[in-house]
Amino acid sequence: MMERTIFHKIICKEVSSKIVYQDHLVTAFEDIKPKCPIHILVVPNIYIVNLNDITENHERLLGHMVLICSKIAREKKIHDSGYRLVMNCNRNSGQEVSYLHMHLLGGKPLGDFLEMEK
Ligand code: AMP
Repeated sequence: MMERTIFHKIICKEVSSKIVYQDHLVTAFEDIKPKCPIHILVVPNIYIVNLNDITENHERLLGHMVLICSKIAREKKIHDSGYRLVMNCNRNSGQEVSYLHMHLLGGKPLGDFLEMEK
């Protein structure tokens, strides 16, 4: 049987987290170790390991993830100051959780994106 990640459990509310948005396609929650004042993770409700596993069937889902990030950024009032979306894939990116997720980062100047603290 497939091992369930922490993100599976957050989506099903088996473990507590600060969910800021959920619909039939995605769940968004606060990162447990925020790297900046606003650090939200947006994940699909279906399991996808990372960007290597996306197909044409996921185009709408990926677009929806970006749309929800944009809406949350507006709600959090960081749309004018600016923000960054990040998706890590595999070892060299530092992907820790094997469940596709998009980081929404903002609330302060983020600097050069390749120098971001891990
Ligand atoms: P990545 O390095 O792209 O795989 O990012 C995984 C992110 O998940 C990290 O920023 C972690 O802080 C975050 N994370 C891990 N466990 C939890 C959790 N239980 N609740 C919220 N965020 C988490």
